[in-house]
Amino acid sequence: MPRQSARQAAQAKLTAEAIGRVEEKVVATKVSKAKSAASVVESKVEVNKRATTKRKVDYNEDKEDESVKSDVNDINDIKEEEDDEPSTKPAPKKRKTTTTSSKKTDDSMPLAARTPLNTLKLAMKIGAHVSAAGGVQNSITNASSIGANAFAIFLKPHRTWKYPPFSPETPSLFSSLLKTSTYTPDIILPHASYLINLAQPDKEKSTQAYSSFLDDLKRCDALGITLYNFHPGSTGGLPMSEACARIASHLNTAHKATKSVITVLENMCGSGNIIGSSFSDLATIISLVEDKSRVGVCLDTCHAFAAGYDIRSPEAYAKTMREFDEVVGLKYLKAFHLNDSKAPFSSHRDLHENIGQGFLGLRAFHNVVNDERLQNIPMVLETPIEVKGPDGKKTEDKKIWADEIKLLESLIGMDAESKEFKDLEVELQKKGAAERKRIQEQVDKKADKDAKKAAPKGKKGAAAAAKKKKKTEEEACDSCGEESE
Ligand SMILES: [Zn+2]
Ligand SMILES: [Zn+2]
Repeated sequence: MPRQSARQAAQAKLTAEAIGRVEEKVVATKVSKAKSAASVVESKVEVNKRATTKRKVDYNEDKEDESVKSDVNDINDIKEEEDDEPSTKPAPKKRKTTTTSSKKTDDSMPLAARTPLNTLKLAMKIGAHVSAAGGVQNSITNASSIGANAFAIFLKPHRTWKYPPFSPETPSLFSSLLKTSTYTPDIILPHASYLINLAQPDKEKSTQAYSSFLDDLKRCDALGITLYNFHPGSTGGLPMSEACARIASHLNTAHKATKSVITVLENMCGSGNIIGSSFSDLATIISLVEDKSRVGVCLDTCHAFAAGYDIRSPEAYAKTMREFDEVVGLKYLKAFHLNDSKAPFSSHRDLHENIGQGFLGLRAFHNVVNDERLQNIPMVLETPIEVKGPDGKKTEDKKIWADEIKLLESLIGMDAESKEFKDLEVELQKKGAAERKRIQEQVDKKADKDAKKAAPKGKKGAAAAAKKKKKTEEEACDSCGEESE
């Protein structure tokens, strides 16, 4: 699609969404009116599929993988099970181009076409963390159906230590589907289980974490995937330098035990025991990795912002990237997570928001997608897609990702001073206003409480309050799962 019309389409969609997308607090009647005809059909198809497909799970790994698709949303403190099955479907039956087939399931019904990269001014590969339920090969169709040019997945159930192996046919199924889809393996960014903490000092738990980690890397090798993203973990209260050394030591062993996958550290937003909230933590780990070609970094925009790295204005963005380059090195930057933030700057809260609606705002994303140094690396949305239907039930609307991908692509080369951009910016900020206010109040209230606790009790009381504050900050980031026991 030519850029201009892609932009127009994105805008049209946004406008339609402004009316149509389900804003939870809006009157139910409005909601039902707004719901698109397509998604109504989809959910009908789903209901029918549900009973039959949910039962016949083909592969071992599928059973618990159902939880996979909510993963991203768990990050955002939402979730339930019942709407997991849109993606719990048997291996896709090829032919994914026709839109009329009655056989279509939710995820295989294309919501948007992929934008050919040569029609964009910069080769920004933008996608989302899609479901791999029903077998990892299904993620390819799921990505394609939202028009993603990159995607993330979980390689196995991510909230349990039980992980049955891939079925023997999974790797070949995956490879052949990848080929037909014209995706290259380097745009896939698997995400590690939230339980894995490679900094774990306890011997037994450390072995458990490492085994799961290694198993994931072997899965990447088997599928031909070249990147693997994980959270550095938690120090468990021990010195940061030692924790970083434990991580690096595991990485060194893992690199020797696997072929070529690059282990990609994610920046975090917590403080205290959380590793990776500052660029220097990441640099420390990298410095101790023997094979530097096997290590990289994934920058999460929400985490960076909540950790105190500003990217809202062009100047702030440039400063943050310069700092990243100086401390870590741009050559290690292998991927991006594109999330707006429901929580304010430096709040250490990990609450993902839809693009343009949070405290980061559209300008931040304009900065990112117009940075030519970031071409060709996977950029993955982990924004909330859960919406409340007219019946009050929550469902996932993958159209939100499809639209956000087009929105972000439309920003490439767009004049940020233009009316077009300003209008978009205002419209999106308006949509997120209530939620920003709600979280801001929480943050303010907590700050007041902490200040009160710390103030009058003299040295001892202040120290206790500070300790408690540190702990809560760590917990605040638990939605991303770093604190693994
Ligand atoms: Zn993550
Ligand atoms: Zn997060």
